[in-house]
Amino acid sequence: MADRAHPVTEQRHAALRSPLPEHERDLPVDVHWLRRRAKMFSAVSGREFHLVTDLAAYASVSGMPYLSHYAAQVYLGPKSARLKVPLMAMNLGLVTTREEADRALAHETMHLVVPSYGHKTAAFARAQLLLDKVGQLAAAPA
Ligand SMILES: [Zn+2]
Repeated sequence: MADRAHPVTEQRHAALRSPLPEHERDLPVDVHWLRRRAKMFSAVSGREFHLVTDLAAYASVSGMPYLSHYAAQVYLGPKSARLKVPLMAMNLGLVTTREEADRALAHETMHLVVPSYGHKTAAFARAQLLLDKVGQLAAAPA
């Protein structure tokens, strides 16, 4: 899910385009902004998830160590007892800009929506679609 070690996967991930205006892309990520943004990804994907930035809490709930080189990761629960609302952990030590956060949110939300896509081209096309929809949502009058 979060194994972005493969160079092709890294490349596809890095090519995801955030809909944020240029002057916002490099702004730091604070938890309030991240939570609002995560809700938008949840809204456009139709998939609920809990955002977790406390990696120790995530590890204790999921029963799996959080690998420190992972920017983000999702946890669906054991096969026999899937969580109604999956967890999405985000490592704010690695995800430091809003542009990076957008990419990570899109990437992980994509895994929740189309888990069978893995890291194929189609997977990143879906992630980009989610980003584009979040951009439209952000631009829509409240
Ligand atoms: Zn992935």
